[in-house]
Amino acid sequence: MEEDGFAATKLFNQGYSYTYDDVIFLPHYIDFPTDAVSLSTRLTRRVPLLAPIISSPMDTVTEGCMASAMASLGGLGIIHSNLPTDVQASMVRSVKSRRVPILSTPTFMSASHRIESLDDFESCPYVLVTQSGSPSSKLLGYVSRSDWLQLDDHKKGTRIDTYMTSSDELVVPWNYSLSQMDAYFQEKRERDLAVLVREEQEVVDVVTREEVEKVKEYPRLGAGTVGPDGGWRVGAALGTREVDKERLEHLVKAGVDVVVFDSSQGNSIYQIEMIKYVKRMYPDLDVVGGNVVTMAQAENLINAGADGLRVGMGSGSICTTQEVCAVGRGQATAVYKVASIASQSDVPVIADGGISYSGHIVKALVLGASTVMMGGFLAGSIESPGAYEYQNGSQVKKYRGMGSLEAMTKGSDARYLGDKAKLKIAQGVVGAVADKGSVLKFIPYTMQAVKQGFQDLGASSLQSAHDLLRKGVLRLEVRTGAAQVEGGVHGLVSYEKKAF
Ligand code: 5GP
Repeated sequence: MEEDGFAATKLFNQGYSYTYDDVIFLPHYIDFPTDAVSLSTRLTRRVPLLAPIISSPMDTVTEGCMASAMASLGGLGIIHSNLPTDVQASMVRSVKSRRVPILSTPTFMSASHRIESLDDFESCPYVLVTQSGSPSSKLLGYVSRSDWLQLDDHKKGTRIDTYMTSSDELVVPWNYSLSQMDAYFQEKRERDLAVLVREEQEVVDVVTREEVEKVKEYPRLGAGTVGPDGGWRVGAALGTREVDKERLEHLVKAGVDVVVFDSSQGNSIYQIEMIKYVKRMYPDLDVVGGNVVTMAQAENLINAGADGLRVGMGSGSICTTQEVCAVGRGQATAVYKVASIASQSDVPVIADGGISYSGHIVKALVLGASTVMMGGFLAGSIESPGAYEYQNGSQVKKYRGMGSLEAMTKGSDARYLGDKAKLKIAQGVVGAVADKGSVLKFIPYTMQAVKQGFQDLGASSLQSAHDLLRKGVLRLEVRTGAAQVEGGVHGLVSYEKKAF
């Protein structure tokens, strides 16, 4: 029979750099239902996941709230490192010490403190009063935002214990699941607040009835990404400078499950030395090297001991590396090439950047990646850091490259410049993305769409997709410009694009 389509090995060896949009899979044969598709995978050699989704270590994408949500969805979040070491480590600790994907981070005060302004309620509608004024001590009471607003001005200026609601009956164990929290609020009809505490009365966080009601409406969450210690798994970004050795120590003490290097060109003596250092000092900790886009780069980092690889250079939505430095690779080619070599050493690959919709995730995973790392796709969600603003009548959130001048001024310049550079050149931009709602809602729908893609390809798991691709059973073609136009919505005067 005449050959139909191309095997991946032929398509990706013709001298072209292909992006996800350049290529298309030909459908294969369906002999199982969508729900039979399993997307369980590995982030690194020793970190299993139920879903192949990772949130990027960017300061407008992943802090504690996003990392908790990603873990609850079966994926994993990597806390960015554009902040002081102790703050990054405390975010790691906070993700590991909860089992509901809700993060309020209330203000803590001691009984003699005074609430100065509404700023104390900014991150949570409750101020908690504990014996020491910090989380690690016994709860004495709380003040809600609405109670405080109703006080007269004189009372507002007095010690908090003169008007707080005293109660230690709000306390529930730190590891209550969402359904246990729900049952608690069903039973205690008069309460709107629960305080999660560890043994020894250490306050972990607060959960409100309102938040539980909201999350309940989203698609049902599975078991999530739970580590051997019973806490959610979480990763953290790390640089390659001498000071990062101290950061690493703090992260390890906080219980981090995996560290991820954050460099646009990872094949450097600095990173190789640092990977060897991590493996020597903490042999049980998995480390992700990168970023790489070629087989030679990948081989170097694998030989140094990397347990996973981040793939992508210049494919990120906020990134200008290819324009500025003339270096990089089309993301589809990069993922295929790096995954081909990494699979020989059983090292999982993360397809990092360039994900705009579910079809891109299908392409990344089938081309050999074990997970996708997303920035822009998750930015603008409730769980991403930062506040919503209005732009031309629409609600948006800031999303910026870690190599943008703005982010570098805040401290991420080691990634793009090295320490001693005097002239700062940006490799990223500052922008804004539309309000997307909660990742707890749109990620489950996205994963369902990915499963449908796998079903069309006759692949019931990532392993089966990789096998079918390598054997040449799955066939691909390059799409011409016209084919790409045809593959999108076209010819309509107007339409509304709603996937779920
Ligand atoms: P996105 O998912 O938005 O397409 O891409 C996110 C990825 O872009 C990140 O995971 C990271 O690898 C990369 N990235 C983040 N900030 C910058 C930047 O300022 N410059 C470059 N070159 N890449 C960036």
